[in-house]
Amino acid sequence: MNRVEHSLGIAIIGAGITGLTAADHLVKSGREVHVFDKGRGAGGRIATRRTPNGVFDHGAPELQAESQEFRDFLAALGAIVGECGSNFGAPGMRSIFDQLISKLDIHQGAEVTAIDRDSGGLGLHFADGRLVAPFDTVLVTAPAPQARTLVAPVAREIAAEIEKVRMQPIWSCLVEFSEPLALEGKSEGRGAVLRADRMASKPLRNDPREAWVIHMRPEFACDQLFADRAIVARSIIEAFGDAYGLTLPQVRYLEAHRWRYAFADQPLGRPFVGDAGNRLLVGGDWTLGGRAEHGFQSGRAMANAVLSREVVKV
Ligand SMILES: Cc1cc2nc3c(=O)[nH]c(=O)nc-3n(C[C@H](O)[C@H](O)[C@H](O)COP(=O)(O)OP(=O)(O)OC[C@H]3O[C@@H](n4cnc5c(N)ncnc54)[C@H](O)[C@@H]3O)c2cc1C
Repeated sequence: MNRVEHSLGIAIIGAGITGLTAADHLVKSGREVHVFDKGRGAGGRIATRRTPNGVFDHGAPELQAESQEFRDFLAALGAIVGECGSNFGAPGMRSIFDQLISKLDIHQGAEVTAIDRDSGGLGLHFADGRLVAPFDTVLVTAPAPQARTLVAPVAREIAAEIEKVRMQPIWSCLVEFSEPLALEGKSEGRGAVLRADRMASKPLRNDPREAWVIHMRPEFACDQLFADRAIVARSIIEAFGDAYGLTLPQVRYLEAHRWRYAFADQPLGRPFVGDAGNRLLVGGDWTLGGRAEHGFQSGRAMANAVLSREVVKV
């Protein structure tokens, strides 16, 4: 796609749950929608990594649903409800979106570097040098600091609102052990560990590995934000063993992943920020909290605002 005479409809930056929810709602309402994500697969922080040793959910380990609306949305996608009442995908958390993704126009590996208003509408500049324009409406659903960078040159008032949001980093560790650990499949945090999940303990996994994802607390990440990944992975394993009093067996696979913007510890307090005509809207989980359900609520609210063109002034 490039510059064309007629409007290309609605562009959504980000194919996490916020962007996918908005896209789903808008497409079902008959709108033309194009989703762009810089990543290789959709899902955002609801992430699953495929490794030579199998899959690891290195992002959200489960999705809690407080509202009936979110439960219904996840049920329609085919999410599996576990005994704890949370929602899961199989073979990985990202599988929750498989059905939805197949129905949407999603461009992966498409990093938006700038938004412009000089294209007879809104235009998107991409890392590969393309300008795609004009869009009638643009929804930005990146984590708050990244969204702010994108919108600041074209909507200073929106950027100023987002400035108030603070997001915390965390480190996650993907590890396979050679022997089973004497530990609950979903282990609540201890010490520097925020939580730890055995992949095989999730519903419908049929996974013979002793594979775990260990999420560390934000304070641990702040101390080692730019440290070497291999060194961080080793120190996470050590902290994990110490926290649960385990003598750890041999490690078959080990990798650390840094989430630069994992959760908002200071959310915005409303589901999105838009310009005067709701042509440029910015939202994400960070508007209302730090869970996927908040992203769902934000995506839904932005889609409804576009459909009704309610004016929310900043
Ligand atoms: C380790 C961890 C554990 C978690 N645990 C839970 C949990 O137990 N329960 C729960 O409900 N939630 C949990 N969460 C939070 C949950 O994952 C998020 O709330 C939710 O995934 C946020 O969705 P989103 O669409 O708002 O943002 P994201 O998922 O971050 O999606 C934003 C997308 O925008 C894309 N993007 C950013 N910038 C650009 C650009 N310039 N151009 C193109 N694309 C761009 C990104 O690639 C990304 O795919 C956890 C998160 C993490 C990291």
